[in-house]
Amino acid sequence: MQKILIVEDEKKLARYLQLELMHEGYDIRVSHDGRSAIEQHEAWGSDLILLDLMLPELSGIEVCRRIRQHDDVPIIMLTAKDDVSDKVMGLDMGADDYMTKPFAIEELLARIRVALKRHSSEREGGARVLEEGPLRLDRDSREISWNGQNIPLTKKEFDLLEYLMLNRGVAVSRSELLDKVWGYSYVGDTNVVDVYIRYLRCKLDDPFHVKLIHTVRGVGYLFRLEEDA
Ligand code: CA
Repeated sequence: MQKILIVEDEKKLARYLQLELMHEGYDIRVSHDGRSAIEQHEAWGSDLILLDLMLPELSGIEVCRRIRQHDDVPIIMLTAKDDVSDKVMGLDMGADDYMTKPFAIEELLARIRVALKRHSSEREGGARVLEEGPLRLDRDSREISWNGQNIPLTKKEFDLLEYLMLNRGVAVSRSELLDKVWGYSYVGDTNVVDVYIRYLRCKLDDPFHVKLIHTVRGVGYLFRLEEDA
């Protein structure tokens, strides 16, 4: 079932969209402000986001900008007024499409179908499975396995490992990892990267007696399989 996150502070409209989209067979979650929208998207992994631009906490433009730093999920903006500068800014921030309120639900449904289809055909390009010895990372099902044995990872652990594997053999700095995996700067603190590297080592290096994630002093981390470590 495809997952759509509705970000809309007008509760009646959010409810109406939720019912219509559930009726179409989509799995739906709703956020009423910008900050919880980002959290909900990151935790849930939406396949598409319907994003109102005028929101409390964080504007839709800012939500779009932050999500786009590290995520290509399709975003359709909902704009209350026929405000050209908002639409331009939203599209500049990487939104895929927009609808001006009020809109016909059939038109929105059609645009959702187009955005989801375009996205899935784009994703078919590029390697969808990354392998390194017995380690296998499936970017579509988001599963990790070692010799066929499934290893449960959290979303951030998965994203971090994926980024390291895509750059295998190359030292990646903490700030690059923060930028690409977390997407927005934590206030002056790259320790979060070290913490997640430790989690990954506990789940991969330690139980399988290998060294996958190497510390490069003064730089950051490097992914390369060394067995019998
Ligand atoms: Ca609004």
